[in-house]
Amino acid sequence: MTKLTPQPGIMDIALYQGGASHVEGVSNIVKLSSNENPFGPPVSAQEAFKREAGQLHRYPPTDHRALREAIGEVHGLNPAQIICGVGSDEIITFLCQAYAGPGTEVLHTEHGFAMYRISALAAGATPVEVKEHERTTDVDAILAGVTDKTRLVFIANPNNPTGTMISNAQIKRLADGIPPSCLLVLDGAYAEYVEGYDGGAALVHKRQNVVMTRTFSKMYGLGGLRVGWGYAPQAVIDVLNRVRGPFNLSTPALAAAEAAVRDLDYAERCRAENTKWRAWLAEGLAELGVPSDTSTANFILARFGSEAEAHACDDHLKSEGILVRRVGGYNLPNCLRITVGDEASCRRVVHAVRQFKESQS
Ligand SMILES: *Cc1c(COP(=O)(O)O)cnc(C)c1O
Repeated sequence: MTKLTPQPGIMDIALYQGGASHVEGVSNIVKLSSNENPFGPPVSAQEAFKREAGQLHRYPPTDHRALREAIGEVHGLNPAQIICGVGSDEIITFLCQAYAGPGTEVLHTEHGFAMYRISALAAGATPVEVKEHERTTDVDAILAGVTDKTRLVFIANPNNPTGTMISNAQIKRLADGIPPSCLLVLDGAYAEYVEGYDGGAALVHKRQNVVMTRTFSKMYGLGGLRVGWGYAPQAVIDVLNRVRGPFNLSTPALAAAEAAVRDLDYAERCRAENTKWRAWLAEGLAELGVPSDTSTANFILARFGSEAEAHACDDHLKSEGILVRRVGGYNLPNCLRITVGDEASCRRVVHAVRQFKESQS
């Protein structure tokens, strides 16, 4: 018997389930289970990545200056208030490590992103789940859930896996109601998909206790490289940089992300395609009796009559080579999360769901 005992909370962590990527015996797979960009990484980023190949013996820069300046330029932000991480997941980890711990609480919503709970537990803190209102962040429920032990409040806006978002006015109301001893984290992993939305950056400027996280994994098509960033008041950035490893991001990752963030045409094209095919997909499924909330992200949350029906449809999709995401782990057992793919993928999804529905009746 082992005498080794992990810290309290660690064994309560359920291992993160990634999106499936293959099915035994089925070819021509379309992966719509991880909200990846169907158009892949921009060519500009691929070229930047390759250019670094001859310099792999060199340590990367520790301050990420070039990437922070590029992000600052493109988004109109102060580079000194930006921190880059191994995906925005690492920024979430830094926040929990630095601000939460035993005896403190970390709040997230009922259908919130799994990493909030995982990172809270890893830091020894107590994750606290609050209700949403019809699969949408409920500001009053969050404010009612805040106690003097709460150190962090995480919301994703738009949220994953619901696809819904709340207005700037609602976010401001949330920020107004949170005590100064508690940080409000606005996870903007899907902010790029919302035309004209700043992910909450303007609010970061106005408050001492609001943080925004962003990622290169979704719109920028770089999930495999693991690059994300956070925007926060200077005092918070100074704290987070103390727990960040000096060489957390590799040189090729930094170079590719910098090229991607400057590739405004690529982002524009991807956003437009997503908006178009998201609407088409949602409508097509609704006509088949599979409704979804209006999504503001690059996926839709398809609702079925029961858990059994959702699973049966998932099984059928899988047999057709279409991989989507079950979200029972997010308290949404009768739903499937479907990434908006390219036109051909969206057509395949609607076709397969129609086959499924016809086989049911
Ligand atoms: C995908 C996603 C992220 C991004 O994670 P990375 O570590 O940057 O790949 C963050 N938050 C939410 C809500 C997400 O869905």
